[in-house]
Amino acid sequence: MTDNQKTMKAVVFRGPYNIEVEDKPIPQITEPNQVIVKVLYSGLCGSDMHVYRGNVTPGPIGTIVGHEMIAQIYEIGSNIKNFQKGDKVIANFSIQCGECFYCKYGYTGQCIKTNTFGKKGLDGCQAEYVLVPYAENVLSKIPENSTKDQEIDDSVYLLMADIFTTGYYGVKKIIDFFKIEQAEGYPKQEFKDISICQIGAGPVGLCALRILKYFGFEKIVVIDSIESRLNEAKRLGAYKVINFETEPNELKNFIQTDLNGLGFDAVLEVVGAPSALKTAYDAIRSNGFISSLGMGHGSLPFNALELYLKNINLSVGRCHAWALFNESFTIFEKLKFSFNEFIDYKTSILNAKEAFKLFDEHKVNKVVFDFTK
Ligand SMILES: [Zn+2]
Ligand SMILES: [Zn+2]
Repeated sequence: MTDNQKTMKAVVFRGPYNIEVEDKPIPQITEPNQVIVKVLYSGLCGSDMHVYRGNVTPGPIGTIVGHEMIAQIYEIGSNIKNFQKGDKVIANFSIQCGECFYCKYGYTGQCIKTNTFGKKGLDGCQAEYVLVPYAENVLSKIPENSTKDQEIDDSVYLLMADIFTTGYYGVKKIIDFFKIEQAEGYPKQEFKDISICQIGAGPVGLCALRILKYFGFEKIVVIDSIESRLNEAKRLGAYKVINFETEPNELKNFIQTDLNGLGFDAVLEVVGAPSALKTAYDAIRSNGFISSLGMGHGSLPFNALELYLKNINLSVGRCHAWALFNESFTIFEKLKFSFNEFIDYKTSILNAKEAFKLFDEHKVNKVVFDFTK
């Protein structure tokens, strides 16, 4: 950028199925805890699709979209101590103050000042420059030379901006549930024997599957309707994959033949649509645990009595990604090379319209806008 450059390219929401690449003013620091970053890579995420398709309300028309980025510190506010200009950083998809009750107790996804990039009041990451409020509670440095001499570049860290930690959160809740059950005196089930039905094999689902395998879970049945995703799930070690469109009775059959007709010990739901939650309810055994990661929209497809009669344990909600960042990152560093081919579509921000369309039609797995060229 030259000194007199005042505008930048950014992807802007103009209404359902309508995004445009526009010239927007380069943001400026207004508070001492902010930084401006220059974006290196920006991801397109499944939850961007909820906005794109009009399922959830985004910011007002004209908001810059996107919530995943790898960037370089460009300007720093006067209170910033942890970063210097030029540092390469991963941005957490949400911002959090670091000081409120929820931040103190590890529920950073519920911070009273939280917001997500690309929502009302906080412009998103699919832009050349991004303003980051509460920067010391949003950004983490990328270890130096972390991908040097390998066949991947720093864009793999985009998985740590959201989807890997979100996947980790869904898995952690399952682990915590069984630990608590054991602590309460229920007989121990080994992880390898715990049956898990995973609904959804998009990017978050595939990360979650890899993490489940990392922790020693074996009996994981993955459901989706897109063959390429199911193939990837197989490659990552799913016990069985089911295409619910072409094999509509297969899940029921599996429950009858392999699970004594009872259902799964746990369900990891990674879609959020009412139909996915209905499948979760039907697949879970009594007293089982449903860990729901999908961004819910629409009414619940079961009622209170149905939950009561099956003694369902249900956990729903946004990932406390900032609080979980460090423990998730430790695991990511061990697994990152299994995500070698995960990002299958890298392009310029100028092709955003086409990229949104391809991603919406499930023709690509993970889209990254590359600003480094
Ligand atoms: Zn995301
Ligand atoms: Zn807070």
